[in-house]
Amino acid sequence: MNTIRHDFRSDTVTRPSAGMRAAMAAAEVGDDVFGDDPTVNLLEQRMAGLLKKEAAIFVPSGTQSNLLALMSHCGRGDEFIAGQNAHCYKYEGGGAAVLGSIQPQPIAHRADGTMDPKEIEGAIKKGDSHFATTRVIALENTFGGRVLPVEYMLEVAGIARKHGLGLHLDGARAFNATVQLGMDIAEFVAPFDSVSICLSKGLGAPVGSVLVGRADLIETARRNRKMLGGGMRQAGILAAAGLYAIENNVARLAEDHQRAKRLAEGLAQHKALKVVMPDTNILWIEAEAELGDRLSLYLGEHGVGITGRYGQQRWVTHLDVTDEDVDGALGLVDKFFAN
Ligand SMILES: *Cc1c(COP(=O)(O)O)cnc(C)c1O
Repeated sequence: MNTIRHDFRSDTVTRPSAGMRAAMAAAEVGDDVFGDDPTVNLLEQRMAGLLKKEAAIFVPSGTQSNLLALMSHCGRGDEFIAGQNAHCYKYEGGGAAVLGSIQPQPIAHRADGTMDPKEIEGAIKKGDSHFATTRVIALENTFGGRVLPVEYMLEVAGIARKHGLGLHLDGARAFNATVQLGMDIAEFVAPFDSVSICLSKGLGAPVGSVLVGRADLIETARRNRKMLGGGMRQAGILAAAGLYAIENNVARLAEDHQRAKRLAEGLAQHKALKVVMPDTNILWIEAEAELGDRLSLYLGEHGVGITGRYGQQRWVTHLDVTDEDVDGALGLVDKFFAN
């Protein structure tokens, strides 16, 4: 395997900084399953406060956070509505079905990443014993790095309310959205009953997500977290990284967005590459299949890590991507096309 020098594969590859490690080393800890870990408790309080919700729970991963949310909203034989490409439907191993006995009702995305609210409403099932009962609608924002409109979230929230359904936000990268919009996170998540936020992506923590929302939902999640094996003991060491991330690494997401834009502009110089201008830190490139494969291979051989295949490439900027990384990658792409 080639050494990756410029790592654009994902914002999950970030490593804790010296400051974050110092905060982790200094963390006061206790047994969090007993509710004794002061640093975990502080992180949960801080997140609930920041998002203006009743409660929060620290969990090992975004996948578990989404699963816990769905299991809080739904019982066995119930159903959740989510996008065809939603992480909680497509990229979590079918966990809701496997572990929660919850059936997904996927809805197609439109070109802009949203689902048609009429299709969402049309898919809601209630009161007929033929059907699994719909309990919750799950939205995702950012979605593939794209910031979906706040008005869209409000419109879907209206449908959820009208039909007495819960509303969940997979906000793994919600802070990328709010930084891009210049919007307060509490306002952004206001329509939702539950929100999942990843600390281990652009925010730079090594581990962890937080599920935030209504107290009754979080209480159920706490029970199910134990059942799923997500109850951690002296987890304050990890929560300290999360607290550090929230305090130090939110506003700076704008730098990641700026670098993604610069990367996009540089790549767009090459006519063979179809570049979608990024809203946040995720950049999508399309090229003719053979060319795309050759470019990916070339970049890989020269220490640039990206993901995707068949001409669809994903470039992600993050805390550990510098201006030099962007310059280095763009220089290599120039060289590839010069040959
Ligand atoms: C990464 C991600 C998750 C899951 O997070 P993990 O910590 O990798 O399990 C959920 N939703 C979205 C949108 C994500 O990008």
